[in-house]
Amino acid sequence: TKATLADIHDHEDALNAYVTVNDEGALAQAAKVDEAGVDAGNLFSGVPVAFKDNLTTNGLLTTASSKILENFTPIYDADVVTRLQNAGAITIGKTNLDEFAMGASTETSYYGTSHNPWDVTKVPGGSSGGSAATVAARDVLASLGSDTGGSIRQPAAFNGIVGLKPTYGRVSRWGLIAFASSLDQIGPMTTNVTDAAAMMNVIAGRDDRDATSSTKAVPDYVAGLTGDIKGLKIGVPREFLGDGIDAGVKAQIKAAIKQLEDLGATVDEVSLPHSTHGIQAYYILGPSEASSNLQRFDGIRYGYRTQNAKNLDELYIKTRSEGFGDEVKRRIMLGTFALSAGAYDAFFMKAAKIRTLIIEDFNRVFKDYDVIVGPTAPTPAFGIGEETKDPMTMYMNDMLTVPANLAGLPAISVPAGLVDGLPVGLQVIGKAFDEEHVLNTAYAFE
Ligand code: GLN
Repeated sequence: TKATLADIHDHEDALNAYVTVNDEGALAQAAKVDEAGVDAGNLFSGVPVAFKDNLTTNGLLTTASSKILENFTPIYDADVVTRLQNAGAITIGKTNLDEFAMGASTETSYYGTSHNPWDVTKVPGGSSGGSAATVAARDVLASLGSDTGGSIRQPAAFNGIVGLKPTYGRVSRWGLIAFASSLDQIGPMTTNVTDAAAMMNVIAGRDDRDATSSTKAVPDYVAGLTGDIKGLKIGVPREFLGDGIDAGVKAQIKAAIKQLEDLGATVDEVSLPHSTHGIQAYYILGPSEASSNLQRFDGIRYGYRTQNAKNLDELYIKTRSEGFGDEVKRRIMLGTFALSAGAYDAFFMKAAKIRTLIIEDFNRVFKDYDVIVGPTAPTPAFGIGEETKDPMTMYMNDMLTVPANLAGLPAISVPAGLVDGLPVGLQVIGKAFDEEHVLNTAYAFE
């Protein structure tokens, strides 16, 4: 724990991966492990883990990288935090993210952007950019991120690490500061697939405090890693290697697919025709849910409160105007509009219908195939400041990741080589609750 803290502090000037480093708390937890002795039967005994700063930690500042929560210290742990601590993990710190996880570069954070350790002039991706950067820098072996539209997988791809978004309902969202509740999932970010599987063994499972968490038994994900993918049926959607995908990324992914074939898998081109509308549907549904979830930040119950309000209305308005950043305000306005009486049918309902069509596309392909593979992101990491001017450019980062969220499916990003010195991720999408095939495909490949 001491060595980890030293590494984190050494790198923090360059990376800005953390909102809070838990120096004292982590050392106190480690001292307890020393006292009791490392529990050899418990994989996480004394292992430092970093948590995205939208996961509540009892007694430890939790900001979601927003000004509006700059002084928010929760009085309870997120379910995933409790589970990892019970498994012996040390809470090493809280990682930087795009404000309320809204973004694809960490640049919307109130606490400044994080940097990519492969090239600090590049973004680490987002929104779980801090969680990815600190693992890529090998400060910690494992962190947790959250993924609403790609926020675990895209930063994993940009940083050359493994990131898994589990099936919707596989991991409890209790204690995750909600962005879009029908899309959000928490998942592991690690240097390799085995560690991701080990984390899943700890964090997956039913939690009565999240009604959408599944009662399905949790398999031993580590035991499922055989590395044998002979006869595995892989579908490659032609839409995932079409327009808008960088030529270097395409070449790496084609090489990766060849490698999977060499390992004995059968590969066919398939089609997910409605996936090309994923961005449009996601950027209506996500903001709609966000506009509702973020109503609770009113200056009364949590965090920041404006200093100079004359009455209650003014208190709400000024608190929210001063406390939220531009991207969060944009989403609240978009979502409030899409849900308003005059716009609901034309926007929200239409997006909900597209979501159903995307789900049906997946169901059709998964009748004949075990997993779907393609790139995680259309490009490698881009330069800091390069995509901040036009929100649409930033939103296009998510074109290959949002379909899995809209359909609630498990999906992993695993390193697939470099383009111009920057990492590229191979994405593997599976059937609902079939994390085992997803993990094993990635394991065979890595
Ligand atoms: N980049 C996407 C967005 O801005 C995804 C974010 C996420 O998964 N939290 O909404």
